[in-house]
Amino acid sequence: MKRTNIFKLKPAIKEQEQRLFELADNCARMFNEINYKRRQSFFSRNFDWNTDESYHKYKKVIGSATAQQVTRKNNEAWKSFFALLRLKKQGKLPRQIRKVSPPGYWKDRKTGKRVLMILIRCNCYKLSEKYLKLPFGLKVRWKGKNRWEGKKQGRLEIRYDDLSSRWYAYMPVEVERKPLHQPTGDKKKKAYVDLGIINIITSWIEGEKRPGIYSGSTVLSDWWYWNEKIGEYQSNMEKNGKRKTSKRLRKLFRKRKKRFRHLINTIIARFVKNCWEKGVSEIVIGDVKNIRENSRKKKKGRKANAMINNFWSFNYIYERLRTTVENYGIKMRKKEEKYTSKTCSLCGKVHRNGRKHRGLYVCKTHGVTMNADVNGVANIANPIFPKPYWRDRDNWLVTQPSVVKALIFTTVKPPTL
Ligand SMILES: [Zn+2]
Repeated sequence: MKRTNIFKLKPAIKEQEQRLFELADNCARMFNEINYKRRQSFFSRNFDWNTDESYHKYKKVIGSATAQQVTRKNNEAWKSFFALLRLKKQGKLPRQIRKVSPPGYWKDRKTGKRVLMILIRCNCYKLSEKYLKLPFGLKVRWKGKNRWEGKKQGRLEIRYDDLSSRWYAYMPVEVERKPLHQPTGDKKKKAYVDLGIINIITSWIEGEKRPGIYSGSTVLSDWWYWNEKIGEYQSNMEKNGKRKTSKRLRKLFRKRKKRFRHLINTIIARFVKNCWEKGVSEIVIGDVKNIRENSRKKKKGRKANAMINNFWSFNYIYERLRTTVENYGIKMRKKEEKYTSKTCSLCGKVHRNGRKHRGLYVCKTHGVTMNADVNGVANIANPIFPKPYWRDRDNWLVTQPSVVKALIFTTVKPPTL
């Protein structure tokens, strides 16, 4: 499995940092030059892969190995663009991709500045305890965690972060498929998962009486808090007739995103750890597409909708879950059979208006009201979801899932939902 180590770089002296700036700027120039020619040839319907001219021009400035990597990076972008075009023609484009456009430039859309990045071929750098040894006679101090150790290191990317004025190195490594932890206990135990926005994770672990819900209310209110901060700042800028963007504004956007991700990471880590401790070896997840579309159509309230529309939250949540699960050595697979969140997990019918407001689902056959997300996860776990409990009037275990909230974020007080 592929993982990426991220390090902060600490150029020791002005000259060293100056050298990084020069190299990064020339990498960006080269990338943009190649890309410009390719876009021109693409739009004139005579696509040209040839990059000899740029290669010979830039190899003197950034070295032939790096010039080759820049060319490759651009090749990769075009190849995936063509692959998407092919899928589009066949009508097989993944639903989350709405528009397929040719590769863009290394340029920040908001500031118009070149994106500063240096590419180093996998065999041209070496990480020692304190230093990152690069070609061009550069030896830069690094800080951070060398979290993933692998036998094979990939192409190193050194990027300058405009907002923090810092350099970062991204080092991909191929980690052996051996899981970090082996699931304990019964090797065949499964957990069933339904992903959502209000309830990030609704799950049921085989053999448990109650399903668990990992609530997203903290995520929503925190996201909303920063959303309003951004709104206030934007309207202030407008009033004062200032530019539409600023460093401070971009920092606010980033903060909102970082906090969102941090909260999601915590929730997912807790859930997966819990699964692991209970000896789960496989997680079965509902069809994410289906759920996403349901969340879009349903009235989830102003805040939830704003978050869904403004964010690729779903892809992030799904990907994060996938990698965390992989880290623990647990398998993950999608439930293949078709079902929708409108299906009743008790009788298998689709009740008209079964999904009511406030996250409830009503089964008209049995006259039962249940948590809509629990109904969702029961559909995924069926036929083994513990049905007897449903009919036990005094023991509505399944309608009362245990709820876990991410409460450890007390540094900023978000308003309550
Ligand atoms: Zn029913």
